Amino acid sequence: MNKQQVVDIVEEYYLPVFARYNIVLSHGEGPYVYDNQGKKYLDFLAGIAVNLLGHANPKLVEAIADQASKIIHCSNLYYTEVQATLIKRLAALSGLGKVFLANSGAEANEGAIKLARKYGKTLNSDRIEIITANDCFHGRTLATLTATAQTKYQKGYEPLPAGFKYVPFNDIEALKAATTEKTCAIFLEPIQGEGGVNMPDATYLQQVRELCDKTGTLLILDEIQTGMGRTGSMFAYQEYGIVPDIVTLAKGLGGGVPVGAFIASDKVASVFHSGDHGSTFGGNPLVCAAANAVLTEMEENNLLDNAKKVGEYLQCGLVKLQKKYPTIISEVRGKGLIVGAELTIENGRDIVNACLEEGLIINCTAGNVLRFVPPLIIQPSHIDEMLAVLDNVLAKI
Ligand code: PLP
Repeated sequence: MNKQQVVDIVEEYYLPVFARYNIVLSHGEGPYVYDNQGKKYLDFLAGIAVNLLGHANPKLVEAIADQASKIIHCSNLYYTEVQATLIKRLAALSGLGKVFLANSGAEANEGAIKLARKYGKTLNSDRIEIITANDCFHGRTLATLTATAQTKYQKGYEPLPAGFKYVPFNDIEALKAATTEKTCAIFLEPIQGEGGVNMPDATYLQQVRELCDKTGTLLILDEIQTGMGRTGSMFAYQEYGIVPDIVTLAKGLGGGVPVGAFIASDKVASVFHSGDHGSTFGGNPLVCAAANAVLTEMEENNLLDNAKKVGEYLQCGLVKLQKKYPTIISEVRGKGLIVGAELTIENGRDIVNACLEEGLIINCTAGNVLRFVPPLIIQPSHIDEMLAVLDNVLAKI
């Protein structure tokens, strides 16, 4: 099929919910992808913070192929060694005790919400409320879009599930005022990704942890975008010196293979019993083999250190561009390899499109924040390459 044939078919038959860019991708290698006309792009989006190892990583490809040749799927009615290996690693890395494997971020969050509700009810039958933060993003299922405190994702799907409350992010006093004897959990992204790479104030998460401890409220952290090393630590909460009661993961966990997880403390997890939750595909041997390969590659190639070091280089480079174009870039923020450049203009889509023309994939979130979430394998030379393209594009505005 040529490019136009692919575009026409997708536009005719796919539910029209995605505003796609006008390229047809065919394959990739490392931090680069190629379209079906052979054009090369430097990928600073990585499938929205998914392809941690870049594209076609040989170890990941081998692990998936090897597992596929043995057993792809067998249901959670049986035990598998690859799943045992993965959950033991995730428990050790997170400092928490029990893992459930799902197929996506929304599903991981959905499970965490169910667990928090069940736990709250063991304390008091009406302890079911969950507080989330304005501008957060937790997914597209009914409960997770209700947790997502942005009306644009909720409009048209009413009635929404009851029991969610919203407060401004970074406002500990608002959180204290909203927390009552009905609150079972406070549910936050440590750094808000879709909301515009919004950073927590230095002590905010510690104060939230203290509030939760004082009131017996659970702290759920959504690390679907920030987890798996993106900030330079395996979990962003490790950067802030706290441990949540439940953490959720997806995106980078499988390096591109769909797998999510929620990980809970033993105490919280103890309210779940056989039959209380489930999934046909969740944590099947294929995705577990992929996730194990991702973790091994991260360890063997020191990708946490790389994310930290190269992330600083990226922010420095963007700050230089901000100084050069102060009327276009108003702020640069982030941690490790989740970085945002806020624009003074209302919509960054034209900049994203111009970068695409020049062979660079980035994206724009929250309307006017350019988001950089490249693979964790990128090197300073890739940053230089990206900055040169962006510089060219900004110069033309
Ligand atoms: N939570 C966060 C922080 C996310 O960034 C996303 C996706 O962007 C989700 C949840 C939903 O994940 P998924 O699209 O895999 O359902």
